[in-house]
Amino acid sequence: MLNDYEVIIGSEVHAQLLTESKIFYYCKNIYGKEANTQTCPLCLGMPGPLPVLNKKAVDFALKVGLATGCKIAPFSRFARKNYYYPDLPKSYKISQYDEPLCYDGEITIKVKERENKIGITRIHLEEDAEKSIHNNDETLIDFNQCSVPLIEIVSEPNIRSPEEAYAYLIKLKQVLEYLEIYDCNMEKGSL
Ligand SMILES: [Zn+2]
Repeated sequence: MLNDYEVIIGSEVHAQLLTESKIFYYCKNIYGKEANTQTCPLCLGMPGPLPVLNKKAVDFALKVGLATGCKIAPFSRFARKNYYYPDLPKSYKISQYDEPLCYDGEITIKVKERENKIGITRIHLEEDAEKSIHNNDETLIDFNQCSVPLIEIVSEPNIRSPEEAYAYLIKLKQVLEYLEIYDCNMEKGSL
């Protein structure tokens, strides 16, 4: 039956950036600290504080764009993605929508001696949400992860087999590791 189908895969990868502070405020981006100790009024969704973009997060995203042959947008902007979620108290995420930082790149992979170019549709910056920890009949919320800088790398649907999907992700991970912008720890959910 599977022979009746054609495999077409596109991918969307989030990677946490290894900056010292968070993407829109001065509070620290450190993993593994006691819950709710690495926060600020912005992370907690309090009224008043204004987001200030972390220059290093932009530099890191641009490095990934250049390493994957992307075009760098001369002008780009952030947008609010509104949705209600228990671990997103301000009810929107700051992300990029119609004008991402980087677009139109590619990554070349090789599977069984066959090369394939996987197009990179776009790379944009966004903030991470907080983390819900589900314990039996209760849910705890840790705000430390809020506003940790993420890049989202969106591929074209050029991936034609699970083996190619694997090769693409490994290649992408190598690029991020080489650029030293990401801590490579899959267990922490960094990728
Ligand atoms: Zn904060």
